[in-house]
Amino acid sequence: FVEQAWILKRASLTPKRIALVNLETQEQWTYQQLTEEITKWSCFFERQNLQAGSRVAVFSKNHIQLLAIVFACGLRGLIYVPLNWRMSTKELNDILTDATPSLLLYDEEMNCPLFLENMHPLRLANEVGTLNIKEVDLNDPWFMIYTGGTTGKAKGVVLSFNSINWNAINTIISWGLNDTDCTLNYMPLFHTGGLNALCIPLLMAGGTVVIGDKFDAETALKATNQYKATISLFVPTMYQAMIATDYFKESNFPSVKVFLSGGAPCPYPIYDEFYKKGLFFKEGYGLTEAGPNNFYISREDAYLKKGAVGKSMQFNEAKIINSAGESCAPNEVGELLVRGKHMFRFYWNNQQETEKIMHDGWLKTGDLAMMDEDGDFYIVGRSKEMIISGGENVYPQEVEQCILRHQQVQEVAVIGVADEYWGEIVTAIIACKDQGDSIIEDIKEICSKHLGRYKIPKKIIFIDELPKTSVGKIDKKALQMYAKAAK
Ligand code: ATP
Repeated sequence: FVEQAWILKRASLTPKRIALVNLETQEQWTYQQLTEEITKWSCFFERQNLQAGSRVAVFSKNHIQLLAIVFACGLRGLIYVPLNWRMSTKELNDILTDATPSLLLYDEEMNCPLFLENMHPLRLANEVGTLNIKEVDLNDPWFMIYTGGTTGKAKGVVLSFNSINWNAINTIISWGLNDTDCTLNYMPLFHTGGLNALCIPLLMAGGTVVIGDKFDAETALKATNQYKATISLFVPTMYQAMIATDYFKESNFPSVKVFLSGGAPCPYPIYDEFYKKGLFFKEGYGLTEAGPNNFYISREDAYLKKGAVGKSMQFNEAKIINSAGESCAPNEVGELLVRGKHMFRFYWNNQQETEKIMHDGWLKTGDLAMMDEDGDFYIVGRSKEMIISGGENVYPQEVEQCILRHQQVQEVAVIGVADEYWGEIVTAIIACKDQGDSIIEDIKEICSKHLGRYKIPKKIIFIDELPKTSVGKIDKKALQMYAKAAK
């Protein structure tokens, strides 16, 4: 038994259970069939003569075939490099230049703008043969996921077998996953949220992953009931769309044990909609470089402490430090650091950035957080997005949660806009059912009830819909440009 080949062991334990379902085509594979698909890809890679450590880039929308490629890469010691097809051709070409893949697999149902000498359509795997495992060191890379779309130039986050396996082990233990669990995954498989948050952990646990491609709120909710999903993970904007459907109001989703939100701060009104139905809703926090899963919170605590992510998972550690590098006191805001075996190895071709983010084995997340007296963590926001107005620190998330108390507000993002006098001014960009001066007055009144004066937005801009990134997060970089243009 080779540890790297845990999927084969899992398939021998639960051969007849459904491993994967492709929502759009209804195609489904048992664990036994998944092994057969993995074998085809592994034979194809062997025939291609790819050396261990070679990169296999994949340009594809969500499809169950991608998981067969993921595991076949692992068994052949190849590095799986999923491409975010929503990036521009230039950005994608920059990634190819950086990753220098030996092979590019592309989805023939999409228009692939890329060219590589060795490129093949994705749905070709028909090779037959035996599965030969190329043994690896568990610290060797398995995935390389490019991140940085919202914050600057893309960086290749290298995840080893250990990083991926330990994230899965942690998730299985801490969130209590088993072979009766099922999830519906609409997050892109080129992103850690789609691939690592639940997909890989659930396959390790012998559960079922239903893969959706193009998100539609009503279809997602119906599929949740149809497939009796037990654990759901979506980004807040997807939940927002779901709770607006009639179907959400009509159903009680009896199979679902927990609804998880992650990837971005979750507006409190979303929690309330789930709580009203007696459903368990909680927030997870993570990032590509660490897991992504880092925290666990129990049902009772999630209910009592809206917005808390809880305590670090079984084999992880978390701490918060101030600018002097000392641990923060309870309720003091500082930078969140995490540590554990789920950590990434390094940024590809970028030692400088790797050194910047790692500190004695701790990963500096770039996010601000605080811990209460019980040791439960709360994410406050990205440190880069903290606004300094008139010398005072303003955390956008706090202001956003406050503005969302207004019934008419559908979405809000708070950003700092450069200003000669204040340094930055707190600016709220709001998507609202109704727009106008009276709403502005109402919002300011709500803010003045709950926030210090310096946190109240000096400027409010209305927008029809907030721009989103490829994974559905609110795109604050685009909003900066929007606010500048609206000046
Ligand atoms: P990109 O790859 O586009 O740059 P990104 O910077 O968002 O995306 P990811 O690894 O996808 O990188 O996301 C990690 C970040 O998402 C975290 O560092 C944090 O800022 C944010 N995040 C994740 N979960 C939460 C949460 N529950 N609350 C607030 N922020 C969160």
